Amino acid sequence: HDEEAAAKAAAINADNGAPTIFDKIIAKEIPSTIVYEDDKVLAFKDISPQAPVHVLVIPKFRDGLTQLGKAEQRHGEILGQLLYAARIVAEKEGILDGFRVVINNGPSACQSVYHLHLHVLGGRQMKWPPG
Ligand code: C5P
Repeated sequence: HDEEAAAKAAAINADNGAPTIFDKIIAKEIPSTIVYEDDKVLAFKDISPQAPVHVLVIPKFRDGLTQLGKAEQRHGEILGQLLYAARIVAEKEGILDGFRVVINNGPSACQSVYHLHLHVLGGRQMKWPPG
């Protein structure tokens, strides 16, 4: 099928190492609502929120982390920093009592931006299992 072929091509091309829109957000060429920032990590409000609180936490230097599946042992430190930043975001946003952290990895998990990012979601009752 043409559709299947197109889906496969999209999946193959999805993680092609090209710069993403997040580079422009990091460079502040595109405005974002920043919730937390340090020298390694940036957290900003998702442009299309799926919950009252929906913040993305990203590494400022992608360093090969287009997706979690590309992580290597050397990424351990930044992976820990991202998770800790998610906790800081949850506290700042007042959802420390109940929040969800999501990483979509690859086409079948609906990853759309190939620069590793944690979704921090909360401010409403979350459902399980997620869709
Ligand atoms: O996990 P996934 O790759 O689908 O998440 C990408 C997220 O980036 C989406 O939730 C989308 O709304 C968000 N986004 C954004 N600002 C952009 C482009 C995408 O907040 N300019």
